[in-house]
Amino acid sequence: MKDFNDELRCRLDQIRDQGLYRELRQVDSPQSPRIELNGKPFLNFSSNDYLGLANHPDLKAAAIKAIEKFGAGSGASRLICGSLTPHFELEAALAAFKGTESALSFSSGYAAAVGTICALLGKDDVIILDKLVHACIVDAARLCGAKLRVFAHNDLNELEEILRWANERISVVSGTQRPRTLVVTESVFSMDGDLAPLREIVELKERYGAWLMVDEAHATGLFGPNRRGLAEEAMVSDRIEIQMGTLGKALGASGGYICGSKVLIDYLVNRARSFIFSTAPVPAASAAATAGIQLVQSSEGAERSARLRQLLGRLMEGLNKAGWNFEALSSSIVPLIFGEEVKAVSLATKLREQGLFVPAIRYPTVARGSARLRVTLTAGHTTEDIAQLLKALAFSI
Ligand SMILES: *Cc1c(COP(=O)(O)O)cnc(C)c1O
Repeated sequence: MKDFNDELRCRLDQIRDQGLYRELRQVDSPQSPRIELNGKPFLNFSSNDYLGLANHPDLKAAAIKAIEKFGAGSGASRLICGSLTPHFELEAALAAFKGTESALSFSSGYAAAVGTICALLGKDDVIILDKLVHACIVDAARLCGAKLRVFAHNDLNELEEILRWANERISVVSGTQRPRTLVVTESVFSMDGDLAPLREIVELKERYGAWLMVDEAHATGLFGPNRRGLAEEAMVSDRIEIQMGTLGKALGASGGYICGSKVLIDYLVNRARSFIFSTAPVPAASAAATAGIQLVQSSEGAERSARLRQLLGRLMEGLNKAGWNFEALSSSIVPLIFGEEVKAVSLATKLREQGLFVPAIRYPTVARGSARLRVTLTAGHTTEDIAQLLKALAFSI
């Protein structure tokens, strides 16, 4: 035991030496633009609760009602006896919202990515990722055993080169099952806040007969005329084989989802191990997510989303006046990139001293040497909050 702990202490020291040590902070309040951290109030610019639904009365009421009717736990995995009414209601709401034939919910977005990719691909297949996709997609790509190729962020030329290579390779591979190629990208990138050229990617994957999976974690509830995501805005929803997302960001609850054809969902129920071998999500989480989806589609959802856009305009104006150079703020994720890990961390500390919580994002979440402050806005922020952030930033940098 002593040897074990000494070894880990030594590894942690190395992490510390690189300025990469991380710690948990206890939040003593609900998600909101104002949070309490270790007993002290902060103005919060770090949450993914983009529409302010995590603590919304409708979602809370739905969760409470589900607990009263279906209990706190779900008792078993979905395929044993854990498939409760709230799960089916959620999946029906998801499919209707996204305009797909069918939907499947998972206990998290992470589980959705890992379960789905590993169900679809094996060692004879090829998986092609944008360089900046989320860790859960990278992990899934490694775990599924397919040949992994990465293209530079949003680089369509490199994507096409890899697709061409994969196609040539397929024609020489012999076997019973035809090898497949899957392209995976995010629609809004989680640490950069920029957008994938979805239309062009769809055209490329079609030209080369590949499949496409799009992770809409940071776009669901925010983009498109019905706020279904960037695929809706780019008008390519019906040309994407696998639409993935989380219920834990703009939708205000917890869990992950896959939307697509009925046969895709039937296949995942049979083959997605993170779905099969895991206890079903608790009824409260699924019911809250259903309420979140309904809210996003309501006029209140439209107002919240419009408000967020307005606030982003304010923030961009202020940042550009302060010497930043944002052509557009494409999403509610605003990265202020400083490079050095130590610099980003010390700025975050200075902001905290002034009562603002903006997280420093470092390796391994982003590449080494591209550390940043990741500012996120939510519909619940006010223009005064933004003014306070801009003032504190000017003072700290
Ligand atoms: C948050 C996130 C996930 C994981 O979703 P969870 O529900 O939090 O597990 C997946 N992909 C992206 C891009 C994310 O930002």
